[in-house]
Amino acid sequence: MERSWGPGRAILHADLDCFFASVEVLDDPSLKGLPVLVGGTGPRGVVAAASYEARVFGARSAMSMSMAQRLCPTAKVIAGRYHRYKEVSGQFFSILESFTDEIESVGLDEAFLDVTGAQKLFGTPTQIAVELRRRVKKELSLSVCVGVAATKQVAKLASKRAKPTISGSKVIPARGVGVVWPGTEVTFLAPLSVRELWGVGPKTQEKLKGIGVNKVFELRAIPDAKLLSILGKGGLHLKRLAEGKDDDPVSARVGVKSISHEQTYPSDLDDPTAITTELARLADAVAATASKKGLVARTLTLKLRYPDFTTITRSATFDIPTSSRGQILLRLRELLPQDAPAVGVRLLGVSLSNLGEVQSTQLHLEDGMKSVRQEKLDRSVVAIREKFGEDSLVPAVLIEKDAIKVKLAHDAQWG
Ligand SMILES: [Mg+2]
Repeated sequence: MERSWGPGRAILHADLDCFFASVEVLDDPSLKGLPVLVGGTGPRGVVAAASYEARVFGARSAMSMSMAQRLCPTAKVIAGRYHRYKEVSGQFFSILESFTDEIESVGLDEAFLDVTGAQKLFGTPTQIAVELRRRVKKELSLSVCVGVAATKQVAKLASKRAKPTISGSKVIPARGVGVVWPGTEVTFLAPLSVRELWGVGPKTQEKLKGIGVNKVFELRAIPDAKLLSILGKGGLHLKRLAEGKDDDPVSARVGVKSISHEQTYPSDLDDPTAITTELARLADAVAATASKKGLVARTLTLKLRYPDFTTITRSATFDIPTSSRGQILLRLRELLPQDAPAVGVRLLGVSLSNLGEVQSTQLHLEDGMKSVRQEKLDRSVVAIREKFGEDSLVPAVLIEKDAIKVKLAHDAQWG
């Protein structure tokens, strides 16, 4: 008889193993056991997923495809099929939903589940994790690893440790389920690098290194005042994470923090019209996603990478939160640096953040009416597209001489 979890929160982090590559193997069994790279196949393509057989050679996601192919010349390279991944992701989430409604999605292949209230029906959190993994294997023929803990941060780290690993040229199979019992968080976290804590990027890591802190247990020993002076308030939050304390709830709303699309171009864009067309395409993509989710954004960010890899971001704030493609495009044109066409553009990205639900904006009457009308229009566009396909309605600027080019969600985002 398994011991009880106790009265505290029980959180699972479920993460499918190299999802895109696994779906490709699923659909083409001849790829089984072979190194597979999914991602952009153009000259500037980026790896979106690498099978474990490819990782043995050092290939990794987010690496340039050319580099990955140099490391692993025998790899099968496959352009991503986003719509297929989305379909399988839907099946994955249906299984998750059979255990609890409290699910926070973190992308197509990853989610947090709060199973505190599910224990009466489905057993201990560990039993739920094991059953979830069994069902994903049986029903989808995919492997999912599950972390079990009292907080999201620890559950995520626990699932990572349950993943298959590479040792020399061998793939060590997944343990599959990793459990950190309530009360043992501090011991579990102590030996890890501070880099593994949420919010620790290279800069913070460098600052911590400056005061001799590399591991989580070393961070815990630093007095609050010192952390405050070095990292500001974020330092105190970090210390709480290091102590295994984290009240961050599993929440479907919190799941969508931003909506973004970006694209690396096969050759640099240096024509003002081409750049405007791409901005319209990206504006269209983020606006459509926001409308579909019933969200409006207060902040708009343009990301631009020049041919020499210098990357800049520029943001604008809407007085009235919006998901209007017209307003987004207007502001994007203002944000675009004047020198962009002359210097050339390697990558463009657009993101919406500070998201809220549509209703809350309808109180702004006078100024608001226009954006409410625009949002209604945008919602009709979404409805028509859902019925007749993504390219049934497109902004005029996207209709080119011989074909309609539509930026489908995540299309060719890997270059
Ligand atoms: Mg994954």
